[in-house]
Amino acid sequence: MLSSWDQLKGHAEQRRMFQRSMAQNRLAHACVFAGPPGTGKREFARLLAMSVFCRNHAMEELRVCGTCRACRAFSAGTWPDFHEVGLLSGKREILIGQVAGEGEKRGREGLCFDLSMKPQSSDRRVAVINDAHRMTAEAANALLKTLEEPPAQALMLLITDSPETLLPTIRSRCQQVRFFSLSDTDIRSILLDNALVDIEETADAVSRLCEGSVETALQLLDGDLRKLRDVVAQELQLLETMNSLATTNAAVETIEQISSNAGEQRQNAQWLLKFVSDALRERLRTLVSGDLSDPLTQRLGARRGVDLLTSMLTRTVTTSGQIDGMVPVSLAVSSLFDDLAQTLRAAMKGSSP
Ligand SMILES: [Zn+2]
Repeated sequence: MLSSWDQLKGHAEQRRMFQRSMAQNRLAHACVFAGPPGTGKREFARLLAMSVFCRNHAMEELRVCGTCRACRAFSAGTWPDFHEVGLLSGKREILIGQVAGEGEKRGREGLCFDLSMKPQSSDRRVAVINDAHRMTAEAANALLKTLEEPPAQALMLLITDSPETLLPTIRSRCQQVRFFSLSDTDIRSILLDNALVDIEETADAVSRLCEGSVETALQLLDGDLRKLRDVVAQELQLLETMNSLATTNAAVETIEQISSNAGEQRQNAQWLLKFVSDALRERLRTLVSGDLSDPLTQRLGARRGVDLLTSMLTRTVTTSGQIDGMVPVSLAVSSLFDDLAQTLRAAMKGSSP
């Protein structure tokens, strides 16, 4: 968990927005933080809460000192005016008990009850509801009641990557705050600063591929997708001498190994295409940068090398549509690598000394 705003990457505009609305005393009782997964919405919400409680900074500064009683207790998870709910381990939904108490304890326990109490150690109570779109209908309706008549000192932050599946009545009672994907540079520093990766090249490759999401970056670093990524890196390392049959076999075998059904096979095949495109794009970058030592430049000249890689990239992108269009994965993959190898051979042949 982050303990200072300096550690948060991106989202500067959202931070300024909260500073403004706090300074003007216009802070809403409830906000929906909506945006792609793995971009730091929850970290932002927690820092916002910590800033509300910090004793050494006025709320509108939106800063935390990290050392006052409130900051220390907040970081230790013992600050009594902060409440957080989310999916319990093994559950796919946020349950009524978490929001409003279960059975006999309905209305006398849970998040809404906590929020209705006077703050204990500060002048506000702050609640974070993670995966807010996963509330059961019962839980959502209980929260709706609190949103309709919010306790004066309550601040509720609903986090979601699927705002369209929240009850419209909930959405309309919250201020909407959009979060966006992180930049490649932000992801790269998150990976390196937190020692999630120790090789810079890996951090570069993963940050290019993860579409601005730390969650996706971690998937790429760990387990199945990593296996597939490694296969592509290995097979395409010597692009000029790519063997289409060996590459197809390695790719299809890995996809079958890491997928438990046809749907997953298609998803993983799409990842394969992203890895292939990324490798081609990287090579393109080398050529465009005027690196004369690149074998393709030496053989074809930079201009023709660029044309070749561009047509290979275009061919790779077409395969994505085929896979969505239900062409069997093994067929789509083998025809892709056959075509790539053939395009390469034709270009080389045309240039043979
Ligand atoms: Zn503090």
